[in-house]
Amino acid sequence: MRVLLVEDDAPLRAQLAAALRGVGWVVDAVADGDEALWLGREEGYDAAVLDLGLPRRDGVSVLQAWRDAERRFPVLVLTARNRWSDKLAGFGAGADDYLTKPFEIDEVVLRLKALMRRASGHATPTIRIGPLELDTVACRFHLDGQPLVLTAGEYRLLAFLAHRSGRTVSRSEIAEHIYDRDFDLDSNVIDVQIGRIRRKLAPHRLLHTERGLGFRLGAA
Ligand code: CA
Repeated sequence: MRVLLVEDDAPLRAQLAAALRGVGWVVDAVADGDEALWLGREEGYDAAVLDLGLPRRDGVSVLQAWRDAERRFPVLVLTARNRWSDKLAGFGAGADDYLTKPFEIDEVVLRLKALMRRASGHATPTIRIGPLELDTVACRFHLDGQPLVLTAGEYRLLAFLAHRSGRTVSRSEIAEHIYDRDFDLDSNVIDVQIGRIRRKLAPHRLLHTERGLGFRLGAA
């Protein structure tokens, strides 16, 4: 999962970035509204954490501009101001959830997990694909009711596909959401990981290669 983090308070930004990377997400962390606006419009994100009080351009106008540009990723708004009018402006501009400072860092992670899961059309914390289950809170897979042992990299890739189950996901989409910016799309890293995951899912055939298009996780 790729998350855009927009917070001008440097220590808080560092703390949040570390927590989000700690659960295996790729994080782009920026401090001002102009850069946030540009990145959110140009890059594909699974979610954003957006502070409202920002230099150069305030968070509400950044969010409004993303939504005007049809960017629909879920946005968790942060604010120091516990004023109803600010919340109203944030939700009016298209925020999906709200946290008032000070907050527990863990709560940001929990809320983002829930937002990303709901954004992918899953109403409960468990995503099921036939015999495969992803507990999106505990970040664990079970296959046929047994814990599925995955490396951190395999988990990130399979969880990304699980959030998009039934859909074909392109190689470049995977690169963008799972790996860092300098990832070499021509390398065979994705194929190697897909092969390993597929072996771990055997005898079930859940991970399909759509030639020339990408990969699809699905029970059929
Ligand atoms: Ca701020």
